[in-house]
Amino acid sequence: MNVREELKAELNALEQRTNKRSLHKVEQGAMPWLQRDGRRLLNLASNNYLGLAGDPRLTEASMEACKQYGNSASASRLVTGNHLLYDDCEQAVAAWKKTQKALIFTSGYTANVGILSALLNHKSIVFSDKLNHASITDGIILSRADHKRYRHLDVDHLEKMLQQAPAHKRKIIVTDSIFSMDGDIAPLQELVLLKERYNALLIVDEAHSSGLYGATGAGLVQQYALTQHVDLVMGTFSKALGSFGAYVTGDEELIDYVLNKARSFIYTTALPPAVLGAIAKSIEIVSSEPALRETVLAHATYFRQTLTKAGFNLCGSESQIVPILIGHSEQALRFSEALQEEGIAAVAIRPPTVPQQTARIRFTLMASHKREEVQHAAQIIIDVGQRLGVI
Ligand code: PMP
Repeated sequence: MNVREELKAELNALEQRTNKRSLHKVEQGAMPWLQRDGRRLLNLASNNYLGLAGDPRLTEASMEACKQYGNSASASRLVTGNHLLYDDCEQAVAAWKKTQKALIFTSGYTANVGILSALLNHKSIVFSDKLNHASITDGIILSRADHKRYRHLDVDHLEKMLQQAPAHKRKIIVTDSIFSMDGDIAPLQELVLLKERYNALLIVDEAHSSGLYGATGAGLVQQYALTQHVDLVMGTFSKALGSFGAYVTGDEELIDYVLNKARSFIYTTALPPAVLGAIAKSIEIVSSEPALRETVLAHATYFRQTLTKAGFNLCGSESQIVPILIGHSEQALRFSEALQEEGIAAVAIRPPTVPQQTARIRFTLMASHKREEVQHAAQIIIDVGQRLGVI
């Protein structure tokens, strides 16, 4: 087989296992209702949890910044790309998170890859929850550190691994705060105890909790009053904050280290001014409008209770991300197609994004959904679940 034939055979194998992916056109994909294949669907598949992606105040701020500073930063932050908005935004993030410093990255993916590959090297050991996001795993692989994956949420397993690690090695524990495909929550207090007991650094990815939890929406680290105990908190502006990009917060020394060592920070063009304009506005809104997070979390509680009562397995979800476990990829696809027929957009998540035989439908709630829409959707999901023999 030549190279092209080998690649084709790999794609065919994916197709046979119903795990081949393709792109679907959507209009207004971030709104509570979206258009797909000419149909209007209730959107239960977006990370726009607070509805801010469609908020005219962000659009306005974005246009203002664009008019004032142009379309592109045109260089890396360390060359000439560090336009004035960066400082304002990083100060706003640090104040929101109550930390000394913040550093903005161009995306959550590049933030995780950059932070982990900077802080780890081939002599370090990293302890990572088995279900952490792919960008964490990729940063670790790039660092060539000894990669220990502890069982999902299992602090006893983690402690055994820490006990066995040589005392002199640099140790880092890393976890998502909310797991993106399960919607469950990391045991952050216990992780802090372990990191202190074993002299490790702790990094928390708040991609799915920023904007939703804590007194000012700063995330779960804030909600559990752990800000002073977590070394680095990473989060994204691309989900609840309705924009794009990511940040990492921590003390001055660690942020300075990341700035100097993270290659995905150093060797890429800075975010464009328009994005920074939107980010600044969204931090302001998130900090001052708790009703948005209260609404989406109340929708999520109702949705989880209704689906649990109907007999679905929700993979331990405790948040606005609510999956229902299906098992086979083919059945998951059939489920999402049946939902689309009934006017609901929700995605079948299949291996390798989730472990084999754990294909699922991942639902996400938004503050801009109406309660009647959430009730109606839950009823349709229950009907489809009964029809397809899932419950
Ligand atoms: N971390 C987690 C936990 C995520 O779910 C995601 C996005 N799916 C990322 C990082 C990457 O963020 P971004 O989409 O901004 O690159």
